[in-house]
This record gives sequence, C-alpha cells and structure tokens, in this order.
Amino acid sequence: MMMTTTQTAREVIGLDNAHVLQTYRRAPVVFERGNGCRLYDATGRAYLDFISGIGVSSLGHAHPRLSAAIAAQAATLLHTSNLYYHPLQSEVASRLTALSGLPRTFFCNSGTEAVEACLKFARRYWHAQGSPRSEIVALERGFHGRTMGSLSVTWDEHYRAPFGPLLEGVTFVSQNDPDALRRAVSSRTAAVIAEPLQGEGGVRPLEQAMAEAITDACEATGALFIADEVQCGLGRTGVPFHSATLGLRPDLMALGKALGGGVPVGAALFSDRVAASAAFGDHGSTYGGNLLACRAAMVFLDELTSGLLEHVASTGPLIRAALERVAARHPMITGIRGAGVIWGVELDRPAAPVVEAALDRGLLINRTADTVIRMLPPYIVDSADVDQMAVMFDAALGAVTAEEK
Ligand SMILES: *Cc1c(COP(=O)(O)O)cnc(C)c1O
Repeated sequence: MMMTTTQTAREVIGLDNAHVLQTYRRAPVVFERGNGCRLYDATGRAYLDFISGIGVSSLGHAHPRLSAAIAAQAATLLHTSNLYYHPLQSEVASRLTALSGLPRTFFCNSGTEAVEACLKFARRYWHAQGSPRSEIVALERGFHGRTMGSLSVTWDEHYRAPFGPLLEGVTFVSQNDPDALRRAVSSRTAAVIAEPLQGEGGVRPLEQAMAEAITDACEATGALFIADEVQCGLGRTGVPFHSATLGLRPDLMALGKALGGGVPVGAALFSDRVAASAAFGDHGSTYGGNLLACRAAMVFLDELTSGLLEHVASTGPLIRAALERVAARHPMITGIRGAGVIWGVELDRPAAPVVEAALDRGLLINRTADTVIRMLPPYIVDSADVDQMAVMFDAALGAVTAEEK
C-alpha cells in the first residue's frame, strides 16, 4: 500500500488488531469526519466516497437536516421499546406503504433482520393456512445477510461453509435460468426470495424472463415472493423499488441500508394476506423502530419524495456515460451494469488492485464478486462528483495497467 499512515492511525489500527474480532480485512485508513460525498482521514485528506458505507449514507455525510433531526430527537426521546406506542413508527410505516403498496411494516435494525422477518412470516403464513410449507427457492449469487436464516438463503459457499448445518430445504437456482426456476418451485415451496438487482453478487439486474418465471411459478404453486430490496430498493435505482420495474409483485419485502441514512434501521413489509397471519407475540425486537431510527428514516423518506428520487434517476445516465468514457480507454473493462446510484464495472481480472489504487488516489469504491468494481455513491452525488470519480477511476485503472508492464 502506497498510502502513508500517520502515528494516530497506526495506533487505532494496532488497537483494533488487538481487540476487535478480526472478521474484516479493512483498508488502512481511519476516517474522522465527513461532509456530503467526502470523507476526511486523520490528516485531513479528503476522499470521494463512492461506496457510502455500503449503500447506507444515502444523504451523504453530516447532512444538515438529518444531523439536526437526530440531535433534536436525541434531546427529546430516544427509545421506549415496543411495549408502548410512540408517534413516529406508524408515520414511517404509512410512508413505506405509500411508496411500496405493501400495507404493513415490521421494524428491525438491519437488513439481515428484515430478511429473517420475511423468512419467518413466509412460514407463519403457511402455518396459518393449516398446510405448513418450509422450503425456500433462492438464486445463485444472491446475498441476503449473515444471520442463520438469511445465511441459509445466501448463495456464496465461502460465507456458509463454516457455519453449518443451516436451514433445510433451500434450493438455489441460476439467476438467469427461468426454466430451472419454474422446475424448482413446487407446492412445498413456502417462498421464493430474490434481489431484483443483485448487489453483492456483482451488480446484476434480474432479467425480465427470470422475473416473469418467478411471478408465474408463485402464481401456479401459491408460493410467496420475497423481494430483498435492502441494497437496490428505496430509490437507489431511480425508482422507489426495483422489483416494480420488472413487474414483480412481492408479498414480502426486506429493507435496510439507505433507509436510516447511517442510523441502523431495517424494515420488513408485508401484503395483507401475509400480515393477516401475524398474531401478538409472533416476532419482536427490543430496539426495532425506536424514535431515533424512525426520525432518521422519516428525514430520508422526506428527502426521497421531495426531489431526491428524481435526482437519482437523472444522475444514473451521467454515471453510465462517465464509466463508458473510462471504459473506452481501458480494455480491462468488459461490462458496465447498473442504474441510478448502483453501478458495477466488470473487469477481465481481479478487481482488488484497482480498489487499492483508487484509495491511494482518494476514491472510495469496492470490489464484489472478485472481478467487479462496485460503486454505491450517496443519492446526493452531483455531476461534478461524477466527473471527479471518472478522473480518479481512470488514473487507478491506468496505474494497475502500468504495474503489469
Ligand atoms: C447488505 C444486504 C443485506 C444484509 O444487511 P445487513 O444490514 O448487513 O444485515 C441483505 N440483503 C441484501 C441484498 C444486502 O445487500
């Protein structure tokens, strides 16, 4: 790594190495503050953030309205648990209904918890019908989280193998094989789960034919459809939910990441028929939907519905054009996929060295599925940021090419 690491940064890294469970291979940089699409390290060096904490910092860093609202909420009331009512949860739930068409919300604290809730209530639905079904059909390259249930429907064997045995009855189908999907879904299938646009799997939008196969198979067998919109949902592709662009009509939907703009919050949304099976005591979360989380979600949803969604939709083509200009100069780029503020750049080689070279130049991006560069800039990213990204990304690719010679 060419970067210079300061003394304080070295101390932070040393203490982390000594005391934090070593499950992350972190880049050797310590961030101290942020503003908009920029993060600043201990030396004051600026970085252009095109990963936004893995799709979380949707309003960028230190967003004035979000930080003021959080501070005011903290000074008023943070948490009461779900033993009582507070005024914000139903407000956020009704806004999610207005966006998604799904009438009921369960609040939790992360994407994986939202997926867990979906898996549990898919089973709960069939239990209530008096004809229990437990099998799940999931897609290859799908990612749904790291807790036991969501890990069971996550495809990557690398994540799964050390933690077995996982849930039984999960079948994985290639993400572009509609016939295999139709064959896999049966009258024993409780639900099909899919990301309408796969994030961790390499930024791969579901093909229309695959979406149609899911809809047909669910209709034919009664199986429920769970849309995991944790990464691609909530406006990230320039529409409220990516499933709608494919004609998918989920019975259950998992949300997280962008929803709290950095405050941990997850949500599972349910259709009437699934929600009807829920009874008091069926599921719970101590923190789920507390006032702080709901206040943050409310600011995000306010912003999204007062111009930000249109901004994302109009920024997508700018990013594509910028990436295409870069690709024209770098034959190692073999594909560009995405929409709005989620983009994947497929390389003909491992992407890790490019991520490292970009970091050296002050651009934060990440690698997924080995050969794919993923960009998840904040929703507020503007055309000047996009131009700067293109210059830095071009330089990073150039450096990697030069190293080979
Ligand atoms: C990130 C992600 C999750 C898990 O979210 P966490 O908040 O990390 O638990 C689940 N599904 C998808 C599609 C994701 O991208």
